[in-house]
Amino acid sequence: MTTWTEVADGVFVRRYRFFDQNIVAVMDRGEALVVDTRSTYAQAREILSDLREIGSPRVAAVVNTHGHFDHAFGNRMFRPAPIWGHERAAAMLGPGGGQREHAAAEVPKLADELAEVELDPPDRLFTDSTSVEVGGRRVHLAFLGRGHTDNDIVLSVEGADVLVVGDLLENGATPYFGDGFPLDWPATAEAVLARTSDRTVVVPGHGDHAGRAFVERSVAEVTANAALAGRIHAGGLDLAAAIALSPYPPGSALEPLERALAQLRGAIG
Ligand SMILES: [Zn+2]
Repeated sequence: MTTWTEVADGVFVRRYRFFDQNIVAVMDRGEALVVDTRSTYAQAREILSDLREIGSPRVAAVVNTHGHFDHAFGNRMFRPAPIWGHERAAAMLGPGGGQREHAAAEVPKLADELAEVELDPPDRLFTDSTSVEVGGRRVHLAFLGRGHTDNDIVLSVEGADVLVVGDLLENGATPYFGDGFPLDWPATAEAVLARTSDRTVVVPGHGDHAGRAFVERSVAEVTANAALAGRIHAGGLDLAAAIALSPYPPGSALEPLERALAQLRGAIG
C-alpha cells in the first residue's frame, strides 16, 4: 500500500511500486500541480484517484520532468489541464520521438495498455526557465543542461525547500543512460547540487527522496563514469578494467560507459 508523504509544506510525494517511481503533487488553495503522469492510462487514473486522499484538488497543471514514456504516457488522463515541459520533451513524446517503441521494448507485458495510449506531448513549452502558478503559489521550472536526456528539467516550489529533479538523479539504481549525454551530465548534476542546501529535500524520479549528500554522491558517480570513458578513449584503460572501477554495479556499468564513449566519438548529439 502506497501513501502520500508531505516532504515539504504542501508538497506531496507518492512512490509507486511500478518502476519505483515518484509522483509529486504541489498543493495550494484546493489546486494541485502534478509532476509526471506514469506509463499507462490505468496508472494515470490511479494517480487521479489517489489525489482524493489529499483533499481531491483540482489539477490546475501538469509538468513532465522529461520525455520518457513512464513520465508522460498518462498525460491524456489529466486533460484539459495544461501540460508543461521542455520544448525537446515535446519532440521526444511526439510521433517519431521513439517513446512508443521504447515502452514496448521495456514493458512488453503492458503491450495492450500501451497500444491505447495516444501521444499527448506537453503543450506549454519553454527553453531555459519558466514558472507556473498553482493556487496562489509559484512553481519554478528550469533546464540546467543535458544529462539523462536532452530535456530534463528541475522544479522548485515557492515557500518550500524542495527540489524535484526527475531522472537526472536516481536513488538506489543506476540511472538510465540509453538516451543520455554522459559528458554533459556532471556539470548538470553540479548545477542541481548548487541549488540544494543542507535542508533541501531532493525528490528523484525513481527511489527514495533524500538530501544533499545523495546529490553529492550522484555528482561523483556521473563524473567518475565520464572520466573512465575518457581514459578508455585515450587508450589508457580497457573496458573490463573500467567496468571494475565504475561507480555502478558490474551488471549495469556497461551502458553508461558505452554511451559516454559514443559521445566522445561524436556519435551522438
Ligand atoms: Zn527517464
